[in-house]
Amino acid sequence: MKKLIIANFKMNKTSQETRVYLNELLPLIDNADKDVAICVPFTSIAMGKKCLKETPILLGAQNVSSEESGAFTGEVSARMLKEAGCKVVLVGHSERRKNFKETDQQINLKIKQLLNNNLSPILCIGETKLQRDTDRTVEVIKKQIETCLSGLYENELKNMVIAYEPIWAIGTGKIATKKQISDAIKLIRKEISNYFSEKVSKEIRVVYGGSIKPENARELLSIKGLDGLLVGGASLGAKTFSQIVNA
Ligand code: PEP
Repeated sequence: MKKLIIANFKMNKTSQETRVYLNELLPLIDNADKDVAICVPFTSIAMGKKCLKETPILLGAQNVSSEESGAFTGEVSARMLKEAGCKVVLVGHSERRKNFKETDQQINLKIKQLLNNNLSPILCIGETKLQRDTDRTVEVIKKQIETCLSGLYENELKNMVIAYEPIWAIGTGKIATKKQISDAIKLIRKEISNYFSEKVSKEIRVVYGGSIKPENARELLSIKGLDGLLVGGASLGAKTFSQIVNA
């Protein structure tokens, strides 16, 4: 399977800025040997769809409602994202967990909404610095996997991506060591094997996110069992992101 490189714009880029970015990016990654997904703000989805038409690049959103429809002012449903042209959606990003108090239970409902609408969830999990310093990383990852994936069917899992994103590495310039990433990947696959099957634990894509730059991308991509990268800050420049995609 090809490696997957995911861009997370966070709350950056208007629709017009997204157009300029994608027009610059597309020729730079024309010969890439990787799958690429670009997760844009809701207001840039229509522009993303237009610019990415007839390209293999997957258009993505950064959040979805845990509800199907109804009186939930300000929310955007999975069905709306599907119709708008999204293929993948980030869920459980640490910025949403921290700033908007999203829980693993809510994230589980969001994943179910996405899967019901044939969208691929990119589930973000990972520990805080305090949790790592107090040897709770394993416990935290196990709990996140257990609750976020609760009630799912094995055959739904192969459409998902799990992003291991240690919170202390996001936007900080601090990068997890290859051993820390490798241990987390093994743990994630082991838990999935326990709850579902060994087959799907091997099939599901597991990627790493946290302070990725063109200089460290190639080295990280050599980690055994790692299927790709989730890139925040360094995805905002088309040239920089293309260097990661081409790493
Ligand atoms: C992210 O937003 O998921 C992320 C990994 O950010 P950064 O690359 O800036 O650390």
